[in-house]
Amino acid sequence: MNAPAPKPWIMAIAPYVPGRATTDDGRKAAKLSSNENPLGTSPKAREAFMAHAGDLERYPDAGATIVREAIAEKFGLDPARIIYGNGSDEVLHLAAGAFAGPDDEVIYVRYGFAVYEIATRRVGATPVIAPDKDYATDVDAILAAVTDRTRIVFVANPNNPTGTFAPRSEIARLHAGLPGHVLLVLDQAYAEYIDAADDDGGMELAKTATNVLVTRTFSKIHGLAAERIGWGYAHPDIVTAMHRIRLPFSITIAGQHAAVAALGDQAFVDHTREHNKRWRAWFAGEIAKLGNAGLRAIPSEANFVLVVFEGALTAETAYKGLMDAGFIVRWLPGQGLAQGLRITIGTEEETRGVAAALRALATA
Ligand SMILES: *Cc1c(COP(=O)(O)O)cnc(C)c1O
Repeated sequence: MNAPAPKPWIMAIAPYVPGRATTDDGRKAAKLSSNENPLGTSPKAREAFMAHAGDLERYPDAGATIVREAIAEKFGLDPARIIYGNGSDEVLHLAAGAFAGPDDEVIYVRYGFAVYEIATRRVGATPVIAPDKDYATDVDAILAAVTDRTRIVFVANPNNPTGTFAPRSEIARLHAGLPGHVLLVLDQAYAEYIDAADDDGGMELAKTATNVLVTRTFSKIHGLAAERIGWGYAHPDIVTAMHRIRLPFSITIAGQHAAVAALGDQAFVDHTREHNKRWRAWFAGEIAKLGNAGLRAIPSEANFVLVVFEGALTAETAYKGLMDAGFIVRWLPGQGLAQGLRITIGTEEETRGVAAALRALATA
C-alpha cells in the first residue's frame, strides 16, 4: 500500500489507558483511579502558580534552574546532575531513548508500571518480563533475566500497580548483581509516602554509582499532577546523554514556581503522608474482613492498595459495582491484572465509602 508505514515496534504498543474521571453513564464520581492527592495541592504551591499564571508570552527557563536549585537544596544534591521533564514519564522515556534501541533488552517486573513497556517499545527495544513473587518485585528473577543485551532495568519502588516495596537491602542486592553496562532506573514516584527510616537507598546509589537513575515526581504527594513536573538524579554522563533528547521547554513557568513552593511546604507533605498511612491501614483492615469472600489486599507502601479477588466476586464485577456506587477505581486487564483492582486512598469519606460499597458487593 502506498502510505506512510509506522515502525512495526510502534504498532506493537498497546495505547496507555489513563484513569477515568466519569462513570459509564457520564456521572461524576469519586476518582480513585489515578493515585492523585485527595487533599489537593499545597496552598503555597497554588499561590505560586497563580502568581505566574499570567506569564504566557515568554518561553520558560529551559534549564528549570529554580526547580533544580530547590531540589538540590532540599535533598543535598548537585543541581548539575538533575534531569527533569514533563512529568517523570518524560524522564523515563529519556532513559529509554538514550540507553536502549533495536536489538537491546529492557527488563521490568510482570506487574510493572505501564509506561515502561511503552518507553521500551517506542525505541524498538525488546521488553523482558521478570516474574513477580506474589505481586512483589523479585530481585532474583530480575537478575536471572539479565543477558549481555540488557540495557535498562526499570523498578518502581513502591511499585505501581501493586504498591509493594523492596527494602534497601534488596535494592542494594539488585544493584550489586547488575553488570555495570546496565542502567538501573529506580522510579520513586511514591517515595514520599515511605517513612524516612525505611528509605530504599536509591538516592545514595544515584549519588555514587555510574549506572543508577532515580526518578521522582511532583504529581503524587505534592498534588501537582496537572502541571507535569518530574525529575531524576544520576551520574553526569547519564544526565548529559538524556539532555540531548529532552524537549527543550518541558516545564511551564507557573509549574516551575509551583514546584519550588511545594518543596518548601513540608507540612503539607507530612500531613498527606500521615493521612495516607492512617486510611491505607484502615482500608486494608476492612479488606481483611472480606477474606472469606476471597478479597485480599496486597501489602502497600504507596497511596493506593491493590485488592485481588480470589473468590466468587470477580474484579470485573466489583469494578462495575463500584462504578454504579459512584467510585471509579482502576481495573487493569490490559496489564494482565484482570483479577485485581487498584484503589487510590482518598479522603476519609471516599475511603469509608468505597470500603462500604465493596463490602456490600462481597456479601451480597
Ligand atoms: C504516577 C507515576 C509516575 C509518573 O508520573 P508523572 O506524572 O509523569 O510524573 C511514574 N512512575 C510511577 C510508578 C507512577 O505511578
